[in-house]
Amino acid sequence: MLKIYKTICSHCQKEYAYENRDDAYAGGKEKEEITCPYCKKTDFTKMTSGYFYSYKLDDNGNPIIN
Ligand SMILES: [Zn+2]
Repeated sequence: MLKIYKTICSHCQKEYAYENRDDAYAGGKEKEEITCPYCKKTDFTKMTSGYFYSYKLDDNGNPIIN
């Protein structure tokens, strides 16, 4: 299931979207980094059992997912 959140980068102040792709494999939660798609810096870390993917937003505020 896709869960997409929007946030504002603490480095460059641009809004972007990130997705928590929770694969729920055995092994438990780990800290994963959310990287800003604009400035490529690590914005923050969060506990998840999956991975985070970040996306730029288009002019309408929708994530650009390739
Ligand atoms: Zn940034």
